[in-house]
Amino acid sequence: MEVSYLSAGKQLPSSNKLIPLTPFYDDFGIIRVGGRLKNSILPESQKHPILLPKTDPVVNLIITDYHLKLLHAGPQLLQSALREKFWILSARDAVRRVVRRCIPCFRNRPRFAEQIMGDLPEFRVCPSSVFQRTGLDFAGPFLIRSSKGRGSRNILSATFAFSFASQRRRFILKSLAT
Ligand SMILES: [Zn+2]
Repeated sequence: MEVSYLSAGKQLPSSNKLIPLTPFYDDFGIIRVGGRLKNSILPESQKHPILLPKTDPVVNLIITDYHLKLLHAGPQLLQSALREKFWILSARDAVRRVVRRCIPCFRNRPRFAEQIMGDLPEFRVCPSSVFQRTGLDFAGPFLIRSSKGRGSRNILSATFAFSFASQRRRFILKSLAT
């Protein structure tokens, strides 16, 4: 439908989902993305990438070609490389589908060992009164900026040390100190 509209030099209907891309027909009969980069010094192919559908055998071949040229690149790298020349609709899905079907990538995909975590302690899973039990994650100190602009200094934040005051914390701190 879009092809018939654009080849006839008509505007797409306002309900069409391609309207934000402002597609146009170039001199070779290729639909390209409009955009606002007309005055840029970028190459024409980057300023107005070729608009492609998400499911098409030719699109799959183009993605596969880039995937192989980039030595079995992952989806993110592949997508950014393709975007220099093509604007594939739902590119993320299309690229992931091709990478998922690549047999060398499937064979070499590492499997990460996952540690089985122990049961949560009773005080984490049973309701209790507010501040009856408190905890403190040991992290930091964090560097924070005291103010914006030049001449501002990073200072250490030690607020976490005063956040909680309970018998439990003192007990934990004592036990760690010994
Ligand atoms: Zn691959």
